[in-house]
Amino acid sequence: MRRPIAAGNWKMNGLKKHKDEILDIDNASRKANCDVILCVPSTIISEISKITKNIFMGGQNCHTEKNGAFTGDISAEMLKDAGASHVIVGHSERRVNYGETNNNIRTKTQIALENDLKAIVCIGETLSEREDGTTLDVIKKQLIESLPTEIIGENIIVAYEPIWAIGTGLTPTIHQITEVHDFIRVELVQSFGNDTGQSINILYGGSMNAKNVKEISAILNVDGGLVGGASLKADSFVPIINALGKS
Ligand code: PEP
Repeated sequence: MRRPIAAGNWKMNGLKKHKDEILDIDNASRKANCDVILCVPSTIISEISKITKNIFMGGQNCHTEKNGAFTGDISAEMLKDAGASHVIVGHSERRVNYGETNNNIRTKTQIALENDLKAIVCIGETLSEREDGTTLDVIKKQLIESLPTEIIGENIIVAYEPIWAIGTGLTPTIHQITEVHDFIRVELVQSFGNDTGQSINILYGGSMNAKNVKEISAILNVDGGLVGGASLKADSFVPIINALGKS
């Protein structure tokens, strides 16, 4: 049985002074029937992880290497040291803006797992891939190439995030989300066997909000959400957490 997950991605937003917003999310998460993960900027993970009780803290990226001469980068070990339990890898903003490849993402996933972080591995097609009808091919390649060959299911979370739905207010149809999530489940089972493949949470991400969460989370293989803009405020994130907890 997969416990639903409500994950927030704060991207490059969030200062120490926003801790009251996070405490509101933390308080509301006390009775939530889902795991709540807040992926805040790494600069505030340490402080926030000390004052929250009901949510997991996540990083938004980690380096492929353990440590070394990589000015400005952050390692999986540093995130763990700061108080994170999770890390997003392969977000499309990193794939697109920093040229991250599936190969990089597999290495990042591996090093995250070695450092006792659960990895939220993002995959998703562009609008032109969707229009060309190649979505499932793209998803299959990203999935196979971004995940290590040996994994423990509970330590991996897959987030399906169609790039054209991120921050745009657009969402795929229920049929489109169902098709991709079912496909990911079948691929995971084929690659890792039934037990592991069935144990991995598959999150939907891309303009999830309080209005569409109920319908999206009712889909069989949607095990939660990865939420950007709507996770920045307790007022918009808490209804999503509550809805995901009921799914
Ligand atoms: C994201 O960036 O992971 C995301 C889902 O953003 P938004 O919810 O703002 O579309």
